[in-house]
Amino acid sequence: MKIRVYADAAATTRLSQTALEKALPFLRDSFGNPSSQHSAGVAAKRALEEARGMIAEAIGAAADEIVFTSGASEANAWILTTVGRERVNDANLAEQRVDATSCERGAGRVIMSTLEHSSIRRSSEALKRQGVAVDYLPSDRDGVVSPDALKQILDANAADINLASIIFANNEIGTIQPIAELGALLRTFGVPFHTDATQAVGHIPLDVRALNVDFLTASAHKFNGPKGVGFLYLRRGVSLPSLILGGEQERGLRAGTENVAGAVATAWALAENVARLETSAALTRRITAEIVDRLRTLLPPGSFAVVGDESRRLSGTLNLIFQGVKGDALVRLLDLKGVCASTGSACSSGAAEPSPILLALGFSPEDAKSSVRLSFDRDNSPDDAAVVAETLAFVYRKISGRASAT
Ligand code: PMP
Repeated sequence: MKIRVYADAAATTRLSQTALEKALPFLRDSFGNPSSQHSAGVAAKRALEEARGMIAEAIGAAADEIVFTSGASEANAWILTTVGRERVNDANLAEQRVDATSCERGAGRVIMSTLEHSSIRRSSEALKRQGVAVDYLPSDRDGVVSPDALKQILDANAADINLASIIFANNEIGTIQPIAELGALLRTFGVPFHTDATQAVGHIPLDVRALNVDFLTASAHKFNGPKGVGFLYLRRGVSLPSLILGGEQERGLRAGTENVAGAVATAWALAENVARLETSAALTRRITAEIVDRLRTLLPPGSFAVVGDESRRLSGTLNLIFQGVKGDALVRLLDLKGVCASTGSACSSGAAEPSPILLALGFSPEDAKSSVRLSFDRDNSPDDAAVVAETLAFVYRKISGRASAT
C-alpha cells in the first residue's frame, strides 16, 4: 500500500537531506577514527567537535556540556540508574542542600511525573526494587503537572531526594510541562533535575540555562536526524558516573569509537530545524487544527474528544479518543487506507494494556484503549489535514457503524 500521509512524526521523522549530505563523507572518504593521531583521525575529531558545538549552540549550552549517546532511552537509563540511585556530587547543589546527615537515610528518593516515557518509568521501577522510593507528581486532566504539587513533595522529603526527572513534552499527548518553573523550584531545594526533552528538542524553542536543568536528554531521529544517535546535556560542574568504561571518548563518560557521521547528521538536522521552528510550528498547528475542525463537521457530536490542553501542547501532536471504538482497529484501517498513525507511543503499541499516560490523566481503561495519536512535522503538507480527517471519519464510521452527520 502506498503511504498517502505519514502522520506519525512523534514515532520518528525522515532524515533531513542536508543532514544526509553532510554526514555521507564521514561514512566513506573521511573515515578516520577521532582518537587516531594522524591527519585522517584529526579530520574526524574536528568534525565530531564541530557537531558538538552546533548542538550546544542550538540549546544554549557549551560544547563541553554535550555527551553523544545512542539515543534517549540510553541516556534516560544512564541518568536514572546512576543519579537516581545515589546523589551526584555538585558543588553548587551541595551548598543549598538540606543537610541529610542527621536524617534516617534509606536508598533515597526519586521524583518523576506520571507522564514519563517508558524508558524513565521502567528504569524507576528497577530503582524501586533496589530500595529507592519513587514519588509521582500527578498530572491534571489536561496533561500538565503542577509546581505546587512538586513543592509539597519537596517540603516533605527534600533531604532524601536523589533526582527529579520530568518529561518536557509528552510523546503520546504532546503536552508541555512548565520545566523552567519546576527547575527553579528544584534548584532552591538543591535537587538535581533531569528532563527528557526527546519530543521537544528541534520542535519548540529551548534554552538549557533558562530551564534550570542539570541533565537533558534528546534523540536525533525525532528531529529529522538519524536513528541510533542522541545526546545528553550535562551541566558543567555536575559529575556523573561513566556509562561505559574503556577509552577516553566523551571525556571518559561513554567509551567507544564515536559515531562521527551520526553526530554530524544530528548537528545539521538540529540546526536546520531550529532555524525553521516558527514555520514548522505554523504548518503543524494549521494541520492539527484543521483535522479537529473537519472531524467536527464529518462526525456526529460526541464521537471523539481531544486530549490535552491545546494552549500547552506541541503543535504537531494530536491525541483523539473515539469512545467505544478500539484505537488499534482504527490505526490498522487507517494504514490500509495509506495513513500512518499510532495508538500511542511506538514503544508500547501492540501491547494490549491501556496507555498509562491516558490513565494518569483520569481516562477510563476503555477510553485509554480508544485513542489515536496523529503527529506531524515540517515534512507534512497542509493538504494532509483533509486526507487524514476524511480517512479517519471513514474508518470510524465503518467500525462504529454510525451514520455520518452530513
Ligand atoms: N523519550 C521520549 C519522550 C520519546 O518519545 C522516546 C522515543 N519514543 C524516547 C524517550 C526514546 O528515544 P530513543 O528512540 O532515542 O531511544
